[in-house]
Amino acid sequence: MKNILALAVFTASLSLHAQEHGLEKDINAIESKVIEWRRDIHQSPELSNREFKTAEKIAKHLKSLGIEVQTGVAHTGVVGLLKGKHPGKVVALRADIDALPVTERNDLPFKSNVTSEYLGQEVGVMHACGHDTHIAILMGVAEVLAKNTDKIHGTVKFIFQPAEEGAPPGEQGGAELMVKEGVLDNPKVDAIYGLHIGSYLPVGHIAYKPGGALAAAQRFVVNIKGKQSHGSQPWGGIDPIYVASKIVDGFQSIVSRELELTKEAAVITVGKISGGVRNNIIPESAELIGTIRTLDYDMQKQVNDRMKEMAADIAKAYRAEATVEIAKGVPITYNDPALTEASLPSLQQMAGAENVHLIKAITGAEDFSFYQEKVPGFFFILGGKDPNAGPDEHFPHHTPDFKIDDSGLLLGVKAMSEVALDYLYRSK
Ligand SMILES: [Zn+2]
Ligand SMILES: [Zn+2]
Repeated sequence: MKNILALAVFTASLSLHAQEHGLEKDINAIESKVIEWRRDIHQSPELSNREFKTAEKIAKHLKSLGIEVQTGVAHTGVVGLLKGKHPGKVVALRADIDALPVTERNDLPFKSNVTSEYLGQEVGVMHACGHDTHIAILMGVAEVLAKNTDKIHGTVKFIFQPAEEGAPPGEQGGAELMVKEGVLDNPKVDAIYGLHIGSYLPVGHIAYKPGGALAAAQRFVVNIKGKQSHGSQPWGGIDPIYVASKIVDGFQSIVSRELELTKEAAVITVGKISGGVRNNIIPESAELIGTIRTLDYDMQKQVNDRMKEMAADIAKAYRAEATVEIAKGVPITYNDPALTEASLPSLQQMAGAENVHLIKAITGAEDFSFYQEKVPGFFFILGGKDPNAGPDEHFPHHTPDFKIDDSGLLLGVKAMSEVALDYLYRSK
C-alpha cells in the first residue's frame, strides 16, 4: 500500500516535469525532416556490416549538430555523445541500421531498387525490418536534444548499431561486438533505451513488456553416430535416421512435459534433418539443426541440460551415440522491471495512457539484449501500421510486402526524447 502511494506521487511529479520540457515545438518542427531522412535511407539500404553510406549520413548529421562523433565502431557503427548543461548520469539510445536481402514489392515513391551480393548470390536489398525508421527517429532525437542541452541533466549517448540481423558468416558484428569494443564505457552508460517499429501495431500506439520481452535464441546441432549397413539389412547396423526421429520427438516432450509453461513460453524447433545418400543405405551418421527460444534463464538452462541428456540417453537406448552442441546465442531481451515502471509515465505522457499497451512476450529475438546484459535497459515497440489499413491487412517483417507508415515516426521521436530526458532528470 505504501509503495503504491509513493509511486503515485512519483508519477505525478514526473508528468509535471515532462510538460515542463517544452520540447513539443522542436519535436513537431522536425517531423518533415525525419520523414525525409527515412525515405532517403529506405531508398538506399545496405546489408549487415556493409552500412557504409548509411553510417556516413548519420555521422555527418551528428557532426553538424556539434555532437562528438566516433565512427567505425563494430565495423560501421556510429556513436554520438551529447553533454547536457547540467551534470548527471549517462543514458544511451540505440538504433540499428542494417537492411535485409529482400526484394521490395511495394509500390512506393521511395521504393528500394538496390541490389547487392549476399553469400555469392545477387539479391535485392530492402529495409524490410524498419531499421530505416529507427535511424531517422534517432537522428531526429539527436537534433531536438542538441538544441536543448539546457534541459539535459547528464549525457546522452547515441548508438547507431550495424548488423542487428546478424553479421555475415565468418564475421563478428552487431550489439555483441559494440559492447566488446566498449560502447558502454567512456563514459559508462547507466541505462539504455531502444525501440522497434512494428508493422502490426497501428500508428500512435506503443507496446511493452517488463522482464523477458523477446526471447533468447540459441542455435543447436545434434550429431548422431550409428553404424552403416545395407538398407535391406538393418540388423547389421545402427540406424542414425531412426534415432534422429526419436530425438526430434523427445525434444518436444521437454517443452510439453517438463517446463513450467505458466511461467514463460519456450520453443524448440528442429529446422533441418540431414543424413544418408540414397534409398538403400543406412548411413553412418545423421544431424539435426534447430533453434531454442526461451524467456527465462533458469528455463533456458533446464532446456539445454535436458536436451543434452535426452539426446544421449535416447541414442544409447538404440545403441547409437549422440552429442548436442548449443551456442550461447542471443540473450533474452530483458526489460529491467524498475526501469520499465519508472519510464512508463514518459511513454504514457507522449502517446496517451490508453495507447500504451502491456503485451505478452515475443518469441523472436533482438540483439539489444547484449546491452541489457551489462546495464539496465528498456526496449519497446512503436506502432508503424497504416491507420487506414484494415485489421486483416498485414505487412509482415522480413517480407517483400513489409510496410511502415511515416506518420508513426513522430511518436518515436517524442518517446525516445522523453524517456532519455526523464531518466536523467529523475536520477540527477
Ligand atoms: Zn529483423
Ligand atoms: Zn529489426
